[in-house]
Amino acid sequence: MIKSKVLIIFIIITGYATSAWSMPKTTIGHALPQWQEGYLDMHHISTGRGNAAFYILPDGTTLLVDAGDISEQRPRTLTARNAKIKPSAKKTAGQWIVDYIHQFHPNKKNAQLDYVLITHFHEDHMGEIDDTCAVSSLGDFRISGITQVAETIAVKTLIDRSYPDYTLPHSLKSPDFKTQMTASADIEDRMYLETLEAYWKFQQAHQKQRGMKIDRLQVGSKQQIILIHRPHDFADFTIRNIQGNGLGWTGWQDKTFSLIKSRHAGENELSAGIRISYGKFDYYTGGDISGVDDYGSSDMSSAEAKLAPVIGPVDAATFNHHGNSDSQSNFYVRTLRPKVWIQQSWSSDHPGDEVLSRIMSTDLYPGKRYLFANDLLAATKNVIGSKVKRAYNATQGHILIRVAPAGSQYQVIVLNDNNKKREVLSIFGPFEPR
Ligand SMILES: [Zn+2]
Repeated sequence: MIKSKVLIIFIIITGYATSAWSMPKTTIGHALPQWQEGYLDMHHISTGRGNAAFYILPDGTTLLVDAGDISEQRPRTLTARNAKIKPSAKKTAGQWIVDYIHQFHPNKKNAQLDYVLITHFHEDHMGEIDDTCAVSSLGDFRISGITQVAETIAVKTLIDRSYPDYTLPHSLKSPDFKTQMTASADIEDRMYLETLEAYWKFQQAHQKQRGMKIDRLQVGSKQQIILIHRPHDFADFTIRNIQGNGLGWTGWQDKTFSLIKSRHAGENELSAGIRISYGKFDYYTGGDISGVDDYGSSDMSSAEAKLAPVIGPVDAATFNHHGNSDSQSNFYVRTLRPKVWIQQSWSSDHPGDEVLSRIMSTDLYPGKRYLFANDLLAATKNVIGSKVKRAYNATQGHILIRVAPAGSQYQVIVLNDNNKKREVLSIFGPFEPR
């Protein structure tokens, strides 16, 4: 009797009975155990130059979401306001992403990427062309970020928010836009034009020479990014396209609705976002959408507020807009209520002080939560002060969420971003999904 009581308490505390699969034995200071079939690995790569998240899906299908590389010709890139490139300046961010994928991809140096999703057309998500960037071996264009990754690691399907017409927020291929950007006094505008023009040349070259497919994100669909090797073995795995290009999923079939307010939409608002589900486990990543108005209040006509009920509660989420002050509204935080938050950060305003307060507020939702940042800068720590220690479980490193088969449990593993070994620095969980 006593024994069975002890067993029941043990099961309640550990959730052991529901976890048929165990996590691979992971040891601090050692190499990360390799991905195994049935597991879902979600690597949030730390380069200091923007977002890059590499996903190995349960049957070995691979997905890269974004490959940022902010140019050093921007006035603030090399100041204390921005993160340093990591692990070193010996390679560009795009090259470090390649190095990272070669280390952890199931096929190592023979890696291919089955899918690449570019959430939106900003330098910290797609790369940025300046006159120091290498020229592609496939054509007359320079490479940075995603175009540099794809140079080495073949991409089978490229998905972005707007292929092929690129008419929002304004016609990005029009002569007017070109004239305006060329005439601008800001180097950022001129680099933006070069980046987009190189991106379109890259598309053509890779389509022609390597058979790369290109698609616009089909908002509402769960049939676009799919397991390509053994989908029937993992029927409880799905990727649902939540939003992109100003459209959001209604939550019903694959019907969509408009997210854009009457005023002029910005690039961030047009970001693509997806929800990854595996059994009971759910995860959302949504690019740079926002949810807080100019006065610091929840903006109920924002993308965050419109999408939160459709996304629903999740186990883990990345910060929208890196945790900028316009993101993670009260309503959004209360609705998604993740246990694990991942901050893909590269600037000293990531996160805003109030953003951190909202995320940590047990008034907004109860329970312990775990926060991880790719790089919380010294300036940010100075501003936020002692709250940093209370809030964060790690403030630097590559952040891996590893989900066991059938989504039965998951761990968060922090890997060293200061060297090429990328050994395990800390381990959290296993956690039970919701
Ligand atoms: Zn961004």
